[in-house]
Amino acid sequence: MTENYRPTKAVIDLGAIKKNLSAFQQRSGGAEVIAVVKADAYGHGVLAVAKTAIENGVRLLAVATPDEALYLREQGVSTDLLILGATPPNFIQVAQRHNIIVTAVSLDWLAMASVNVAPELDTLKIHLKVDTGMRRIGVQLDEVDEALEFIADHEFGFEGVFTHFATADEADSGLFLEQVRAMNSVIDKLADPSIMVHVSNSAAAIMHPEMSFDAVRVGISLYGIAPSPYVGKEMPFELHPALSLETEIIHVKKVKAGQALSYGATYQAEQDEWIATLPIGYADGMLRGLQGQEVLVKGQRVPVVGRICMDQCMIRISEKLPIGEKVQLIGSQAGQRIFIDEWARKLDTIPYEIPCILTKRVPRVYSDSTEVSDLPFQEPDTMLR
Ligand SMILES: *Cc1c(COP(=O)(O)O)cnc(C)c1O
Repeated sequence: MTENYRPTKAVIDLGAIKKNLSAFQQRSGGAEVIAVVKADAYGHGVLAVAKTAIENGVRLLAVATPDEALYLREQGVSTDLLILGATPPNFIQVAQRHNIIVTAVSLDWLAMASVNVAPELDTLKIHLKVDTGMRRIGVQLDEVDEALEFIADHEFGFEGVFTHFATADEADSGLFLEQVRAMNSVIDKLADPSIMVHVSNSAAAIMHPEMSFDAVRVGISLYGIAPSPYVGKEMPFELHPALSLETEIIHVKKVKAGQALSYGATYQAEQDEWIATLPIGYADGMLRGLQGQEVLVKGQRVPVVGRICMDQCMIRISEKLPIGEKVQLIGSQAGQRIFIDEWARKLDTIPYEIPCILTKRVPRVYSDSTEVSDLPFQEPDTMLR
């Protein structure tokens, strides 16, 4: 990585990812853990996460798009890859060439793929997606027989069948049970026991380990984040948040009683106040809705005051502090901790969104809490072959 001249950074603890992965490997019994690394590994940096996952026993990585799969191949990742989303006709032969598993999302997709495969290349590997109730993509339940026949009649490498739950992160969901029943009826139709069946996302892998089948697809909780407040409350094992966000004070001044600050002059000091400026703003993913959110300075919670700007924001501190003083926006400092969930509540959204909205301008740097050495961790760039 090139030199970082701005102190704002996301620190990713790969040790936390290892611990979460190992917890899922244990919880799922003999089932494989498919590491879901779409969206740049939920904003954590796909290369470092993929490398960590592979080194710790993961044999299949899942991404959402063709480009995400190709990027991993270009970077030398040779592990099996599954694209969870739909893929277009002009990608079929690319998938064959790069050994990328694609998802059969409908009967039409199967017909499309069958005419786009190049017979001289390696067989196109597919997993069949069945829509058991999410109603997003997948063959419908009454199309499963036809899909299985079509697959049997054509030259596909048929390797897996999966579905996706809509409500696995909620208590007592009737839809969840309905999806389970539907999937069991699909599984009964599979003649070949070597076909990999996978149904669980993080929430299901946590709450229903009996549903692990051959593999579980773990995304959000691989990164140490609970899929919902309900699952967070019921957690049978500890999750280790991997991402922290930190910066440093770059400017400090006293603002007099009655003076206002930032765009719109919406915040007025009630008394003489120490105000520090941080080099992070909405162009970094610190959205304007986070006005009023607290950050950690010297282990104390202090508020973001005034409007958040594109590149900077202000906090109110209780005493004059030096330039370079560490500020923790997400993560822990001196025994205090700010979870991603707190940002999600403030922004009226789910924790999944938070690491995804941290933009490219925020460098991801890596540490490993499970390593004894405290030498700076090297950013992985070319590797893994
Ligand atoms: C994103 C995704 C997952 C991972 O879900 P988490 O809730 O992040 O664990 C699993 N399966 C599919 C099909 C997905 O799109």
